[in-house]
Amino acid sequence: MFQWPKRSSTPGETTEARPRDLNDLNGQVAVITGSTSGIGLALARAVASRGGDVVLNGLGDPSEIERTRAELETSCGVRVRYHAADMRRGEEVADLVAYAAHELGRLDILVNNAGVQHVEAVEKFPSEKWEQILAINLSSAFYAIRAAVPIMKAQTRGRIVNVASAHGLVASPFKSAYVAAKHGVIGLTKTVALEVARDGITCNAICPGFVETPIVEKQIADQARTRGLSREQVLNDVILGSQPTKRFVTTDELAGLFLYLVSDLGASANGASFSIDGGWTAQ
Ligand code: NAD
Repeated sequence: MFQWPKRSSTPGETTEARPRDLNDLNGQVAVITGSTSGIGLALARAVASRGGDVVLNGLGDPSEIERTRAELETSCGVRVRYHAADMRRGEEVADLVAYAAHELGRLDILVNNAGVQHVEAVEKFPSEKWEQILAINLSSAFYAIRAAVPIMKAQTRGRIVNVASAHGLVASPFKSAYVAAKHGVIGLTKTVALEVARDGITCNAICPGFVETPIVEKQIADQARTRGLSREQVLNDVILGSQPTKRFVTTDELAGLFLYLVSDLGASANGASFSIDGGWTAQ
């Protein structure tokens, strides 16, 4: 339990031990889905650099993933593993969670972050893209949470952070599947939060605005095609058009919020959706 330090009797003289560092994740184990790039990798770095062990997951070139894994392990002096679960398959998602507990001995932090996007008018939206986005962006979080909750309950502590989006709170045209899935993530977050509230577990959603990662790079091209605009027009008018700060949210800014949520100080933040979008959803 966190305790504020008592004042020392003589100013300048420290008689009490300093409070422990709330961002110290030493001995904790995190599973982060979709952590081979972008936001997931940044959150994995945030955990590892504070002493936590990490199970990475996601798509990519195997040798590049192994380079990332080994670099993180060596530079942070923690255990870093990789599990190749495909987020479209529920049994593989459950296996990823079980692997973390077996391989690293516990599970403290689950981050449901894997996500994909497809930009298309609803009447032309391909069925397989709809199914894929719902599976990766929403159902995978359900399968991971279902597998993680019994482990966290047995440990009497756990932190579940779902990376939703500003699109979990508001819509934009041509993103029917993504917006539906991200709204679903927020509903799932609230429901799970209520179910685990007495078990030392919290479940929250982070709702970023636009962050400069590969998923956005691809969208710029898709939006240009769908709307008949140039790349520059999409960047300035469509992407950053919705963000009052007129700049991308950074992964460091997301990591700051994430570290608060997984710390002991985050114990009463539960079932909430945290906007970190430069003011987008204030409009
Ligand atoms: P990204 O493309 O860099 O990362 C997506 C990750 O998901 C990658 O590691 C990828 O390999 C993984 N992934 C995709 N399909 C998978 C599958 N079938 N199985 C396993 N892993 C799979 O993009 P990002 O921006 O870092 O996105 C991370 C999350 O943040 C997503 O849920 C996204 O919706 C959300 N988000 C991003 C932004 C943004 O502007 N970048 C804004 C709001 C929310």
